[in-house]
Amino acid sequence: MNNRTFAIIKPDAVKNGNTGKIYDRILKADFKILCAKLLRMTVGQAEGFYAIHKERPFFNELTEFMSSGACMVLALEKDDAVNEWRKTIGATNPDDADLGTIRKDFATNVQENAVHGSDSNENAEKEIGFFFSQSELIANK
Ligand code: UDP
Ligand code: MG
Repeated sequence: MNNRTFAIIKPDAVKNGNTGKIYDRILKADFKILCAKLLRMTVGQAEGFYAIHKERPFFNELTEFMSSGACMVLALEKDDAVNEWRKTIGATNPDDADLGTIRKDFATNVQENAVHGSDSNENAEKEIGFFFSQSELIANK
């Protein structure tokens, strides 16, 4: 069991003014914010981050969307963080997401779905390492 996961408040949520509301949901769900920063991905960074999806039909649209504006990247800590965060955000498609989940409340559609969450402990560590240096991660310890 891992106690870290990686999250993104995606460009749609930042544009729609939901950054603070989603940040509050993170804290209310008892995650500790190890590190967070606001940034705008280049298309190249978005392609690198989502490389596992490069054969999927939505890849180009997805990387364009993820680099379309500012997002907030976060390293989160909680017991069983990967599963706990996936439960907090809900299903990929907001139409399928449970009531009270972040995607149910803030997503626009299956692509502009407000937040990202790692899908495994291994990917959580890779994704945290993609955006944060070791020194940034110890800043809040
Ligand atoms: N996505 C999309 N169309 C789809 C499925 C996914 O645009 O049919 C986007 C969406 O933003 C999603 C991301 O691609 O969050 C990564 O897809 P994945 O299947 O990994 O979903 P997630 O792990 O984010 O729930
Ligand atoms: Mg995924």
